Amino acid sequence: MAMQFVDLHSHSTASDGTLAPAAVVRLAKERGLSALALTDHDTIGGIEEAAAEAAKIGLDFLPGIEISCDYPPGTMHILGYGVDPKSPVLTEMTRQLIDGRDDRNPKIIVKLQELNVAITMEEVEREAGPPASAGGSKPVIGRPHIAAILVRKGYVNSIKQAFNEYLAPGGKAYFDKERLTSKQALSMIRESGGLPVLAHAFQLRTENDAQLETIVKNLLDEGLAGIEVMHSDHDAAWIEKCTRLADRHGLVKTGGSDFHGGNKKDIDLGHAAGRRIPRAFYDALVARLESAKKAG
Ligand code: AMP
Ligand code: ZN
Ligand code: FE
Ligand code: FE
Repeated sequence: MAMQFVDLHSHSTASDGTLAPAAVVRLAKERGLSALALTDHDTIGGIEEAAAEAAKIGLDFLPGIEISCDYPPGTMHILGYGVDPKSPVLTEMTRQLIDGRDDRNPKIIVKLQELNVAITMEEVEREAGPPASAGGSKPVIGRPHIAAILVRKGYVNSIKQAFNEYLAPGGKAYFDKERLTSKQALSMIRESGGLPVLAHAFQLRTENDAQLETIVKNLLDEGLAGIEVMHSDHDAAWIEKCTRLADRHGLVKTGGSDFHGGNKKDIDLGHAAGRRIPRAFYDALVARLESAKKAG
C-alpha cells in the first residue's frame, strides 16, 4: 500500500487558527492525509465540529489540546491527545486557562493604546470570530489575533514583527498569563483520558542535550507519554535528537505542522519543515491510548 501521512498538531478558529474546525478537516483530506489531530490552545471547543466532519468525509480523527506550561526560560507546550471532551477535569482546567487570558488580553490592549496604537478589545474579539457553532464556546483569544490587527492596520509588516516589537517577551506590550505547572497539566490530561506529549522541544531553548534530557526525565516522572519529534521548527538534527530521547525513554513519537492557517502563512497542513508525517506516528499513539485505557 502507498505510504500514508498524517498531521497531529493543528489549530482552528476555536483558538488562533484562521480556518474553522471542519475546514481544517477538509483541508487535511485535500492534502491527502489519512488522519488528523486538532490541538487548539486551551480549548476543546472545535473538537465536536471537527470530529463530525471527519466522520462524514472519512478521515481518522483524534481530539487534542495544547496547553502552555509555566517555564520561566521560555515556551513549554504540552499536547494532550485523546482527551474526553466531556471530562469535568478538562472543562475546569480550560475555564481556568481562559480566565487567565481574559485577565491578560486587556492589559496588552491598554498598553498598546498607551503606545498610540488604535486598537480595542472589541476589534480583537471580532478578529477571533464567532463561536464555531451556534451556542458553542467563544474562540480562545491569543496574541496572533492581536498581531493580525497590527499587520492589517499597518503598524507592522508581519505577524513575526508584531511579536518581536510588541507581543513577545521583551516586546513593548508583553504581558504573561496565568499558567499551569507541567505537573498540573500532565495530571489533568491523564485524568481526562488523554496522553501528554511534549510539543516542539526546540522552543524550550535548552543550551545542551543534558539539559533537555533532565527536563524530559522530570516530565516522565509527572506522566509524560510522548515527544513531538517532527514539527515545523524541527530540522533533521532536532528530529534525530527527539527520536533518540523518545526511544531511550520508551516515549511515543508524534509529529505535526502546527498549522494556523493565515496566521502562520509559511506553514502548510501535513508538512513539518518540508517533511511529511508518517501514519505510523498516529497508529502508535492510538495503540498507546488504548493500552493506557485498559491499564485504567
Ligand atoms: P498566546 O496563546 O496568546 O500566548 O499566543 C501563543 C501563540 O502565539 C502561538 O500560536 C504561538 O505560536 C504564537 N507565537 C508565540 N511567539 C511567537 C513569535 N515570536 N512569532 C510568531 N508567533 C508567535
Ligand atoms: Zn497558536
Ligand atoms: Fe505550541
Ligand atoms: Fe500549536
